[in-house]
Amino acid sequence: MRVQILPSSFSGDADVSQQQRLTTFVVNDAVAFDAGSLAFGCDDRQRSSVRDIVISHTHLDHIAGLPIFIDDLFATVEGPIRVHAAREMIDVLEEHVFNWKVYPRFSELSNKNGKVLEYVEYEFGRTFKIGTLLTTAIEVDHLPPSAGFIVSDSGTAIGISGDTSQTDEFWTAVSAVEGPAAIFVECAFPDEFSELAKVSHHLTPRSLAAELSKFDTRHSTVYVSNIKAMYRQTVIEELMALGIKNLKIAEIGKVYEI
Ligand SMILES: [Zn+2]
Repeated sequence: MRVQILPSSFSGDADVSQQQRLTTFVVNDAVAFDAGSLAFGCDDRQRSSVRDIVISHTHLDHIAGLPIFIDDLFATVEGPIRVHAAREMIDVLEEHVFNWKVYPRFSELSNKNGKVLEYVEYEFGRTFKIGTLLTTAIEVDHLPPSAGFIVSDSGTAIGISGDTSQTDEFWTAVSAVEGPAAIFVECAFPDEFSELAKVSHHLTPRSLAAELSKFDTRHSTVYVSNIKAMYRQTVIEELMALGIKNLKIAEIGKVYEI
């Protein structure tokens, strides 16, 4: 399985910045989990190959690239771009994004080949298939409803926590998977912002460590992602000081062969 967190920031010399402001995981160059940076951070090959987008929740940093991605492809797609989301997320997208005021309602528009956008509703706890990928959305504690995902392909499985705070369901679900090779988990704020993390339903290094006590990290690599850009260095230092086994900081832009 190939997994890449798309870049959302670039440094002065146009190199990919490790600061992450938007969220998109691209798996096997075919399926995007979230679309925060999808239109901006993907390359042309991915623009022509990604046709399924799975939404974890509707915060802007997870959907900002969705309208632009569809807009870019509007004239050329040969079949609809499928947006997989829970019912309430679809309603939010239609009411607040694709409402003709913020952006066109692509679900009502067609190009010469037919529809350009199709919603596919998922249910929490039920596994669905996209190509060769099996995905299960697990409800996590963030903006209700929000999902983390377990994704597997040919016997290899990964977990993606999405944005979350304390949650048992996600850790119970990944613990039940046969040897998940990697878990991508958020850690938005440093510990000094634990109150802000609490009210915004995010994790800090200390609360992430408590979460990881619910999961056997001996056989899986835990990659920390979704660190707020302005606190990145502090969060990394606090995480390293905790000495958590098999914990690494996810590299933005790197293609992980898992
Ligand atoms: Zn969020």
